Amino acid sequence: MTVQIDIPQNLRPADGRFGSGPAKVRREALEYLLARADVMGTSHRQAPVRGLVQELQEALSDLYRLPEGYEVTLGNGGATAFWDVAVFSLIAERSAHGVFGEFSRKFSTASAKAPFLGDPRVFEAPPGSVALPKDCDADTYCWAQNETSTGASAPVRRIGDGLVLVDATSAAGGIDADIASTDAYYFAPQKNFSSDGGMWFAFLSPAAVERAESIAAGGRWIPDFLDLSSAIKNSRQHQSVNTPAIATLLMMADQVRWMQSLGGMPAVAARCASSTSIVYDWAEQRDWATPFVANPEHRSPVVATIDLDDTVDAKQVSAILRENGIVDVDPYRALNRNQLRIGCYAAVDPSDVEKLVACIDHVVERLAP
Ligand SMILES: *Cc1c(COP(=O)(O)O)cnc(C)c1O
Repeated sequence: MTVQIDIPQNLRPADGRFGSGPAKVRREALEYLLARADVMGTSHRQAPVRGLVQELQEALSDLYRLPEGYEVTLGNGGATAFWDVAVFSLIAERSAHGVFGEFSRKFSTASAKAPFLGDPRVFEAPPGSVALPKDCDADTYCWAQNETSTGASAPVRRIGDGLVLVDATSAAGGIDADIASTDAYYFAPQKNFSSDGGMWFAFLSPAAVERAESIAAGGRWIPDFLDLSSAIKNSRQHQSVNTPAIATLLMMADQVRWMQSLGGMPAVAARCASSTSIVYDWAEQRDWATPFVANPEHRSPVVATIDLDDTVDAKQVSAILRENGIVDVDPYRALNRNQLRIGCYAAVDPSDVEKLVACIDHVVERLAP
């Protein structure tokens, strides 16, 4: 059944992008691309692009107040590639994983497939809650700070005496963290950093660097592309192992500078949390909508997931919103729920989130039987 509902222009958000990744890129970041057109299409081994990489490394280090000795390492392939980098270069014999959604599961699966590692210890919780790995016989502890597939967020802290690897792909730039509690805090830039996909960034502790170097020296076969010790060497020279996406670096540099101008991570985190609070509060006031994550402490401050009851078809709501220029509020496909998932990353204006929930009301009222 196709229903046409026109949402009046004055009700619509100024920007209709609410995806959970890739996500809204600020127009100013795109304008910065043009302003820096001089570095586009130039060698990544020369000063202008290396200067851009260095500027970005310093800005990220400043944004997250990196402890002494930590370094900002980068490479190609996005967060998914970093899981394989970690399997080859950071896990010595066995990893332990908190699994509470699709992204945290994918990393545990990557580790399970490696013939040179012991079976990972998996600590699992159902989607909508969170699980951290427990202190065990592992040398590397892994989980996601924000499980983008479910909208649940987990604490960042030390566990046991192994390395702590935190997937911060959708958390970094939207949720604060004490980097000293981690050994690899890694992410890709297409979420809060309002850039394009395809690269990974990792804040590495001295212990992580030492682990990568000792595994490389120990004779394990490591594909060159996945060898973290080469990424570290290149990153120290403000380069990547192979050609980076310069446009991605430029847009990200602009976004980090904008985050600094807002007041750094505390201010950006407060902005994201105020956006998601609008969504959670709204859902709690509707009898046909409920926040999917039952425990308010686990509700993500950057990605709000809202279950709809069976009187409202989320797919239909999302399709009608799309026709009105409001896009990507669909749930993670494998979750398969009657749900809306709303990305409230740093670039999203809280006033647009107010407008979004009013638009959802507008549509649902008109769909009512
Ligand atoms: C988006 C996402 C990923 C995957 O990122 P890619 O850059 O596409 O590989 C991994 N983990 C989390 C938590 C994510 O949100």
